[in-house]
Amino acid sequence: MNAREILSKFGVEATSGDHVVRSPIDGEEIGRVAFDNDASIQSKVAASVDAFRVWRDVPAPRRGELVRLFGEELRAHKELLGRLVTLENGKILQEGLGEVQEMIDICDFAVGLSRQLYGLAIASERPGHRMMEQWHAAGPVAVVSAFNFPVAVWAWNAALALVCGDPVIWKPSEKTPLAAIATQALFARAAKRFGSAPDELSQIVLGAREAGEALARDGRIPVVSATGSTAMGRALAPVVAARFGRAILELGGNNAMIVCPSAKLDLALRAILFAAVGTAGQRCTSLRRLFVHESIYDRLLEALKSSYARLAIGNPLDAGTLVGPLIDARAFEQMEHALAVAKDEGGRISGGGRALADRFLNAHYARPAIVEMSAQTDIVRRETFAPILYVMRYREFADALLEHNAVPQGLSSCIFTQDVSEAERFVAAAGSDCGIANVNIGPSGAEIGGAFGGEKETGGGRESGSDSWKAYMRRQTATINYSDALPLAQGIRFDL
Ligand code: NAD
Repeated sequence: MNAREILSKFGVEATSGDHVVRSPIDGEEIGRVAFDNDASIQSKVAASVDAFRVWRDVPAPRRGELVRLFGEELRAHKELLGRLVTLENGKILQEGLGEVQEMIDICDFAVGLSRQLYGLAIASERPGHRMMEQWHAAGPVAVVSAFNFPVAVWAWNAALALVCGDPVIWKPSEKTPLAAIATQALFARAAKRFGSAPDELSQIVLGAREAGEALARDGRIPVVSATGSTAMGRALAPVVAARFGRAILELGGNNAMIVCPSAKLDLALRAILFAAVGTAGQRCTSLRRLFVHESIYDRLLEALKSSYARLAIGNPLDAGTLVGPLIDARAFEQMEHALAVAKDEGGRISGGGRALADRFLNAHYARPAIVEMSAQTDIVRRETFAPILYVMRYREFADALLEHNAVPQGLSSCIFTQDVSEAERFVAAAGSDCGIANVNIGPSGAEIGGAFGGEKETGGGRESGSDSWKAYMRRQTATINYSDALPLAQGIRFDL
């Protein structure tokens, strides 16, 4: 089924407008959309403010019911939406389906959360007083999302925001508007079954950078959750901060693995493959740097190269394909550029280059590359959004840890070891400086139950599980005096 047919199953179409959407699978046009302009963005934000006034008063468990219904729609349409993600983004079908599964999982999580938006009862120092911490809905939440997770990232934000009492305005990547339109259609079905959701509780703003900037500037939007490159975050964060808004930033990563002498190499190998070449290296958590102990370096490298040689690169809709296309020509050029620089900096490259050019003239399939480096040079410290794995050898564990942390990004990290001391050191305060640290698990494919996000240039935001919901709410400390006196805090006397 093609993109148009899938959209029509959802009762929507994307056939008019100036913006042409092309599939990275073959470069063919799969839809057209019209971008929002300033006036339409303004009126969508106004509608979101109206929706907020109604939604914040709906009891949270009832708000959870809407998210439960949305989860049902996603379950019923997982195959179709997953396929549309693959058609528009190029990730293999298994990963397209996995992305929709993540949406379902976060809906389930949010439904439970809707009965657990707990505050604290705090001991007051004054007699006859009660003090408590409450969480109130914050207001409209803008979600600016990246092309590589065209629907899951929105769901991580939206499912939480909705149970927290916040309407959502979604600015998807200009490269993947169709999956957003389809998701919005499913949400509308859930809202209809729910019966009493305010209009415009969830909206889409279509456009490129300018549309994201308009939302970032808008003082009516207290929370802007932005996922994308560090360059995007660097531009957006000061705009939100200048109006004292809250930005949840989920930016670039440069994730690493340390493979220690005691590691189970078969497990490490599988983890490396999925993390380094899965999604054609276009995950924020993709494995980009590999530190291998010198005693096992040659053995692991040989096994890795032999696995790379057997990778099935091809149409992501075909069963058996493990590596689909890059998103566009620019992504391929950036990969080529990074490999050229790595070579200049002393790297030894296996793989790389364009694949299947004769079959897919207007698409960009790349052979994943392994680059052996003798040191962590400038290019290794940068995120190149492509399947390039830089491999370095180490002798002392402490040095590996130092190098591991010596990059500007701090998203995901992992270690493969059977040595409990190494494992503990890796996750200790002086260990990995990333938001995610795994032992005997690759860096990508996080579960939704934990808080997701990273430090340093990754932006510091947390989304999804744990207590990430607090970023979508307004914290209030409320103190109630039920006595007949008015004692002042800190024992202050202020009598006439
Ligand atoms: P991108 O930065 O080009 O675009 C991301 C989104 O931001 C798009 O919707 C874009 O239109 C918008 N945008 C761009 N500049 C903006 C600005 N100044 N103000 C407001 N909006 C703006 O990123 P991309 O190429 O779509 O995605 C790849 C990047 O995203 C990688 O760096 C990857 O690591 C990162 N990413 C991070 C996470 C995470 O959770 N940390 C998840 C997915 C992707």
